[in-house]
Amino acid sequence: MTWYADLEPCDYFGEPYDEAVAVGWLEATEPYTRGRSEQTLLAKLNAIRNDSFAPMIFMGPHFCSFCLANVEEVQAEDVAAGIDNLWIPGDGVVYVTPELVTHYMQAHEYLPPQSFLHAVHKCPTEPADYARALSRSAPVSMRRDLQAALDGWLERLPSRRAEEAERKKREFRWSWKDP
Ligand SMILES: [Zn+2]
Repeated sequence: MTWYADLEPCDYFGEPYDEAVAVGWLEATEPYTRGRSEQTLLAKLNAIRNDSFAPMIFMGPHFCSFCLANVEEVQAEDVAAGIDNLWIPGDGVVYVTPELVTHYMQAHEYLPPQSFLHAVHKCPTEPADYARALSRSAPVSMRRDLQAALDGWLERLPSRRAEEAERKKREFRWSWKDP
């Protein structure tokens, strides 16, 4: 269970990323702000998630604890889960949010802080522009490592996209064959 209050430092990733700012690290035991978000912001978050950048390898999945609380036995299809985190450039800050944030917004009426929504609105989706914006918004303490991680991410992106396209094609063929 990992909970951070919105806009608190998020030390989940350790140094040098411990000055990242947490948004949407919800747990069913903790209160959170409710409200409606614009559909365009959800679409934007989904677009960012498609090529999600991560400065380090897989850290284990997050499960939605609101959904978990409503099931007696954990069946994968009943409980929303996410393994990625989204890194969003802000104004002199870097926000980090679990990819479940879109699920929290849609299924549990979570309303993220305005400063974060504004950052999402402004976030570039073209990878090179995104990398530049993220590195520019980062605190000095993490900038060098973040830049190196972003360079690696940009380099691997074409092959990641090709793998993803291949996987989708295979899934499509399987679903096509199913009676
Ligand atoms: Zn849920």
